[in-house]
Amino acid sequence: MSHLRKHHQKERAGSPLKNEITSSSSLQSNPPTIKSTRKISKKEPQHIFRRHISESSWTLWNWYRHLYWVGVLTTVLIPLTGLYFAFKIEIHPYTIYWSFFYYCLSSTCVIAGYHRLWAHRSFIASYPIQFFYAFFGASAGIGSIKWWASSHRAHHRYSDTEKDPHTIRKGFVYSHIGWMTLRPHPKVKNSMKECLGDDLIDNTLIDWQEKNYNELLILTGLMIPSFISGIFWNDYVGGLIFAGIIRGALVQHTTFTVNSLGHLIGTQPFDDKKSSRNNWFLSWLTFGEGNNNFHYEFSADFRNGIHWYDFDPVKFHLIILEKFKLVKNLYRASNSSINQCLLQHQQKLIDKRRAKLNWGVPIDQLPIISPEEFRKWAKDESHNRALIAVAGIVHDVTPFVDDHPGGIALIKTSIGKDATSAFNGAVYDHSTAAHNLLATMRIAVLSGGTEEIVWKQQQQENKDVPLKQDSTGQKIVRGGEQATIIKKPLRTAGAA
Ligand SMILES: [Zn+2]
Ligand SMILES: [Zn+2]
Repeated sequence: MSHLRKHHQKERAGSPLKNEITSSSSLQSNPPTIKSTRKISKKEPQHIFRRHISESSWTLWNWYRHLYWVGVLTTVLIPLTGLYFAFKIEIHPYTIYWSFFYYCLSSTCVIAGYHRLWAHRSFIASYPIQFFYAFFGASAGIGSIKWWASSHRAHHRYSDTEKDPHTIRKGFVYSHIGWMTLRPHPKVKNSMKECLGDDLIDNTLIDWQEKNYNELLILTGLMIPSFISGIFWNDYVGGLIFAGIIRGALVQHTTFTVNSLGHLIGTQPFDDKKSSRNNWFLSWLTFGEGNNNFHYEFSADFRNGIHWYDFDPVKFHLIILEKFKLVKNLYRASNSSINQCLLQHQQKLIDKRRAKLNWGVPIDQLPIISPEEFRKWAKDESHNRALIAVAGIVHDVTPFVDDHPGGIALIKTSIGKDATSAFNGAVYDHSTAAHNLLATMRIAVLSGGTEEIVWKQQQQENKDVPLKQDSTGQKIVRGGEQATIIKKPLRTAGAA
């Protein structure tokens, strides 16, 4: 029987408020249809009917109601007991090898079976392989396939929200082990039900594993590891403690680490909208499930590490099974779509950096003045400001005059004039950096005969096409495409 079923039954048996709690959870999904006919007595405080235990603070009187006892037993109490005895008994060397082998076997069944096959359907498995995964997957003590796969689907669908069963927003401990040992909020239960899917409901093997989960856990998690050690090298107790309990706890923490550290430490080369991260070191800690950021973008991919050097033993396990025709249709995301995703994210990061830089006032936001006004303005202000027109755009280069690499005299000859030709090669062909710097000093555009030219320049620098805009709608000014760059220097009427 799964965690989910047990949990429900426990609630029903243990709580006199069962009707109210159930109706309050159905309230979350269908607000208008409250079917409970029981009248709320005036003496009963009404908040009880709305607040779930997971929303109450911990007190001396309610702490035990916060705990999900089946989870506490399988992920805390039994492992701690195992750890205590692990220091008390002597271990046979063969038991160490056997424990390691059985750890790899259980982890493979959880990762290939629970995760990649049932939660994400990233390949099709033959019945014997499915049975093998379902049978030995139970040895990890992380719940039944139905419970785990639905919780994992809810985690992907509602990642980082309150509907995420182990959202990292509740902190490292909660996302690691808290969600296994505390009673979940009704919203989480609802999201898990939502994500169950027909493939998990109408499956006789998954049903069978669900119904016999406790027996399978005892058989594969404790008895088989103990009996193998006992029958072959007479170490029943060592097998029970190390290959059974300690090994089980390690597989549990392998999967827990994906949920906790896999959302906390590492890089985000594919997307940073959610918390999932890639971390090569975590791949070693999690038996090859460290590339969480890739997995969130391509969760249907049967691989977790796409490079040959990524530690992803389950990927090789599946490739070998495919050769023997025991699994088929291993889904691989195309290199092109992987690269698209990588590139889009890089573009997003570039856009962010671009947005922080000064590209000058957009041309269409500058005031328009006539060439006559420009000349007069430049003359009147000649003692305080240095105004220069380049490609129909007026620039106030005052702060730069003294720093001009070509000398103060050269720049001064252009003050109050059209310096388009001089700037674009007639005197000196200015660099990309110089055009960028000039753009930061623009203050107006020239009207009259130059309007058409300015309009063209504006189009060049500020075109209304997506290619010219980044994801935030900011214009992209590429080197060599600045408005002040003129391939064939143009004369602006009247300004020269
Ligand atoms: Zn995750
Ligand atoms: Zn997943």
